[in-house]
Amino acid sequence: MESSQSIVLGDVEIFRVIEFHGPLMPGTDLVPETTAQTWRDNADWLAPEHWDPHVDRVICTVQTWVLRSGGRTILVDTGIGNGRERPGREMFHHLQTDFPDRMARAGIHPDEVDLVINTHIHGDHVGWNTVAADGEWIPAFPNAQYLIPRADDLYFGPANDYGNGARPDDRLLYEDSIAPIHRAGQSVLWDGAHRIDDTLTLESAPGHTPGSSVLHLNSGTDRAVFVGDMVHSPVQLIHPSCNSCLCLDPQQAALSRRRILERAADTRELVVPAHFSGAGAVEIRRNGTDFTLGEWSATAEPR
Ligand SMILES: [Zn+2]
Repeated sequence: MESSQSIVLGDVEIFRVIEFHGPLMPGTDLVPETTAQTWRDNADWLAPEHWDPHVDRVICTVQTWVLRSGGRTILVDTGIGNGRERPGREMFHHLQTDFPDRMARAGIHPDEVDLVINTHIHGDHVGWNTVAADGEWIPAFPNAQYLIPRADDLYFGPANDYGNGARPDDRLLYEDSIAPIHRAGQSVLWDGAHRIDDTLTLESAPGHTPGSSVLHLNSGTDRAVFVGDMVHSPVQLIHPSCNSCLCLDPQQAALSRRRILERAADTRELVVPAHFSGAGAVEIRRNGTDFTLGEWSATAEPR
């Protein structure tokens, strides 16, 4: 692994492995409560890493954050996956990338992954939970425990007709990316808060999905919070009431976002979202009722 790609917080080394990087959709489509003016007003720092003003497309990454902590290898979210049936999302449908090779080049052998954290159950966060073998989906990381928020497992699982039957993709992704983990006995469902060890704690932050969660890191004097899909663009850090178009419960999502970001600002947690391009993670400060951006992390930019 190129060591320049990683940052160190306390005793934890952090880096990311990219599955997808590129333009996604217009800013006001992804964050409907913003206006075209919102994006133009911030173009000087959003472009070129986070927004392409020439075509009005938000630049996103789909990536796995990797933590080496206490001798353990921990993955935060597992992307889209290869060869998936996702007729409702063209970008995800039958995707083929070299993500496994990228993991290998980063020094990660599947047998050596100890813990997989799904911040929530959406198609771009659980895909590489599994791989295809002899026509079946099996856990991609045979020795890992998989931490899955129980509220999402209930909502997107068969007892709730896979997300109330709202989207066929939800049934497909539960059956190919979550159910095989349960069958293998490798899943751990958790509620409310879940302490992983002295350094890492999961906390429920619902709204984007019923089980959406954040991962707090606290090591030495350093702190970070992996916020999953609480924000998709740094525009939402300076306008934290603005939800993405993908938030299932917008009111609850906005409350959770503000609560988690206020704590991040007050305790100087580095904010590490799932989909930011550029350096991928940034500090925030309070600015009245909103926030301003502080230092970006030294994480390498996606290639
Ligand atoms: Zn996502």
